[in-house]
Amino acid sequence: MFQAFLIKYAEIAMKGKNRFMFEDALVRQTQRALKHADGSFNVYKTQGRIHVECDGEYDYDETVDALKKVFGITAFCPTIVLDDEGFEVLKKRVVEYVGEEYPDKNFTFKVLARRARKNYPLESMEICAKIGEALLDAYPEMKVDVHKPDVFINVEIREKIYLYSKEIKGAAGMPIGTGGKAMLLLSGGIDSPVAGYMVAKRGVVIEAVYFHAPPYTSERAKQKVADLATIISAYCGDIKLHVINFTEIQKYIYDACPKDELTIIMRRYMMRIAQAIAVENGCLGLVTGESIGQVASQTMQSLLCTNDVCEIPVYRPLIAFDKQDIVDISEKIGAYETSILPYEDCCTIWVAEHPVTKPNVNVIRRHEKNLSEHIDEMVARALETREIIEIKK
Ligand code: ATP
Ligand code: MG
Repeated sequence: MFQAFLIKYAEIAMKGKNRFMFEDALVRQTQRALKHADGSFNVYKTQGRIHVECDGEYDYDETVDALKKVFGITAFCPTIVLDDEGFEVLKKRVVEYVGEEYPDKNFTFKVLARRARKNYPLESMEICAKIGEALLDAYPEMKVDVHKPDVFINVEIREKIYLYSKEIKGAAGMPIGTGGKAMLLLSGGIDSPVAGYMVAKRGVVIEAVYFHAPPYTSERAKQKVADLATIISAYCGDIKLHVINFTEIQKYIYDACPKDELTIIMRRYMMRIAQAIAVENGCLGLVTGESIGQVASQTMQSLLCTNDVCEIPVYRPLIAFDKQDIVDISEKIGAYETSILPYEDCCTIWVAEHPVTKPNVNVIRRHEKNLSEHIDEMVARALETREIIEIKK
């Protein structure tokens, strides 16, 4: 029934050049998302608007799903495109459309007409008044409310005539590609995919690193992380996933450092390695799924120790979230079912029974010196032997 979609976006912080950058990125991201819907689409911008025109047959549900995943779109409107066959025909079409689209006519409405083509014989005000009249004649239960109507009936006169009234909520945020790039520490858990999604929502391109500890963590655990990256890539776009073999480093820490400090020291090495890959790939910060107090390694004292080795910003979008709120987002973006699959995580294999909850950064730094003989070569080897998986949705 609909031949087009009108894309709405917020226009905050968008003046001059920024506005073009924002709109062009939004057009690109919309095109990317629509590759996953059956149909052929033409995405373009006109003054302050972005339009999707559907070329012939297409799958409506897939298209709506795809558009819902584009950051930067606040809402979109399925639109009927009509040839200009005179005003009488237009009135009839609007009445038909409302008849089909709203089985229950007990609602208030307002007609909004926009005349982008100035040679149209009627002015906007007249168009509104006459279409309003026609609707009231056809459906006496409907009422006009010019201040707070339930439904806006939009009629836009351009070369063709565009008719829309329904608005579907979009993902909001900023289009990917308008905000730099960040390196996500992606594990197989619930939190880090959500953290990546949230930072991507601010327009940031995501690259990811996963610390794998074979044979203690299985191929299936690695596959699970790749699957999670694929799930969030529906929103974030393609993700370059670096898989680091962490076994040797983890074992070395286990042998040389106090058991209750294992997790903290291991996390410091994860941060160091992630940072090296981030800098090498032009990322402006790291992203983790940490949240204050969730586990021993996420108390403020532990976070201080982990953060101690970082020289670029670490973004922790979930820092003040309750677990349930994180789970809600995880479910919403379709990651939860995969996140809870029971494959082992490299962090859980050697965890101490009683990890320190209030580590002291000076003590940790001192104990890390136990590693000085081999750690540099191990880190270099881990970086060199990394596997890179290109995640494309
Ligand atoms: P998640 O649900 O994201 O796994 P978590 O609650 O299990 O988080 P931790 O295991 O303490 O918490 O990890 C904290 C953060 O460190 C994770 O959110 C993730 O960003 C990063 N991280 C942990 N383990 C790994 C790993 N094996 N590879 C990459 N990043 C990791
Ligand atoms: Mg984890």
